[in-house]
Amino acid sequence: MSDCIFCKIVEGKIPAGKVYEDEDILAFNDINPARPVHVLVIPKKHITSLATVVAADTPVLGKILAKANEIAVAQGSPDGFRVIINTGRVGQQEVPHLHAHIVGGPEPVGPMLKRI
Ligand code: AMP
Ligand code: ZN
Repeated sequence: MSDCIFCKIVEGKIPAGKVYEDEDILAFNDINPARPVHVLVIPKKHITSLATVVAADTPVLGKILAKANEIAVAQGSPDGFRVIINTGRVGQQEVPHLHAHIVGGPEPVGPMLKRI
């Protein structure tokens, strides 16, 4: 998609700190990290969000999750991590190209959400 910032990273038109890449997915460091390890994993193909996936997207979604531990360990989060996929307005998704945040580091990442 031509005006999508993450598609531009896939195309090499915008630089990113890439940490993993294969034919289907790309992982790069978040520009504004929330934890010592903060990697975004995206499908190379433009998918807007989890709200727009179709059945054909199932393999690439599985690959994003299946690669998460390998990426987290390689980046310095050997004892676990958290995966977050913000979706749509309520999920407060800012970039409309599906991405999984992998957050971690040497210490626990903190509470998941504020309680209601
Ligand atoms: P979300 O709110 O889930 O859509 O998160 C978007 C994330 O993308 C934020 O954590 C931003 O810091 C990150 N981000 C935005 N632009 C870039 C970029 N050019 N390179 C790396 N991370 C980015
Ligand atoms: Zn895109």
